Amino acid sequence: MTIVVTGGAGFIGGHLCRRLVGEGHQVVAIDNFDPFYPRAMKEEGIEDLPREQFTLVEADVCNTGTVLQALHGRSVDAIVHLAAKAGVRPSIETPRAYQRVNVGGTQSMIEVAERLEVGAFLFGSSSSVYGNSDTFPFSEEDSVGRPISPYAATKRSGELLAHTFHHLRGATVHCLRFFTVYGPWQRPDLAIHKFARQLLTGQPITMYGDGTTSRDYTYVDDIASGLMKSLRRATSLEAPEYEIINLGGSETTQLKDLISGIAGAMGIEPDVKRLPEQPGDLERTCADISKARALLEYEPETSIEEGLHSFAEWVTTYYEDRPVLEV
Ligand code: NAD
Repeated sequence: MTIVVTGGAGFIGGHLCRRLVGEGHQVVAIDNFDPFYPRAMKEEGIEDLPREQFTLVEADVCNTGTVLQALHGRSVDAIVHLAAKAGVRPSIETPRAYQRVNVGGTQSMIEVAERLEVGAFLFGSSSSVYGNSDTFPFSEEDSVGRPISPYAATKRSGELLAHTFHHLRGATVHCLRFFTVYGPWQRPDLAIHKFARQLLTGQPITMYGDGTTSRDYTYVDDIASGLMKSLRRATSLEAPEYEIINLGGSETTQLKDLISGIAGAMGIEPDVKRLPEQPGDLERTCADISKARALLEYEPETSIEEGLHSFAEWVTTYYEDRPVLEV
């Protein structure tokens, strides 16, 4: 099959492209190397993918014409739309930039899918759409009308736009709600990667709040497996469907335990500095993954202990011969 992966040079996108190539597919990654974190890290994550199967197009997903031109002459089986401005906290500072890329860019990729008559569209959504929901664990049936950050609002908007595409064009759409993803090549703004750099450089670990906030952390290989399963289903169905599906790790970890876990995995004693809680951050997340299990036979396989060890190994090696990115 030929699969287009937007944000294909990013953290999750890079892992997905590797899996797709490994299974023999043709992959076109579309990425504009948004300067949110260094281009070099993105390039290094995908540099060994074979050019016969993997094409990287440097383009902005908001630019429908450029994307269509790049895909001219290809028959595309599915689009996995992961390109986005990610991160809750910076979205509070620059909400319009988030709206342009996450809402405008999603509409643009839907138009690309329409023009190329692509029958399967996967959208990378987020657990942030649940806001501070009081039902626990978070289920796809929960009401999600009260986002608490611009980022969350743009992700929910993407899901709604994708529904209109399904309804009007009869395409299959899966909106996958990822729960805090970590692993090798993780985005440097995310907590685990940030803590690792603080540990490597002997700085105190900055902990927002009292450490009792909790997250459902999902290892990136499990997310890639979930995406592969969703793709398989979306490209093989007779009748189109629209589904929102949680992809989580199915265990929750408190921030203070995460800090001791990553420090333990790296063999460094942490010095923790407590800071006030951040506006826009959720208090806790936990995925109900029964729908993913039933529809996709999704089953997260990596425990937080195993995942933190793999991450620690990667991060230590990665910064061995490179300057450690500033925190
Ligand atoms: P990432 O920043 O590593 O990847 C996103 C990629 O999109 C980047 O390579 C960036 O250059 C690219 N991009 C940004 N704007 C673009 C544009 N206008 N045109 C083309 N490319 C553009 O982030 P990630 O963590 O891999 O996240 C991937 C997706 O998953 C995002 O949609 C994100 O919102 C979602 N998500 C991630 C997490 C997580 O924990 N990492 C959790 C929930 C949802």
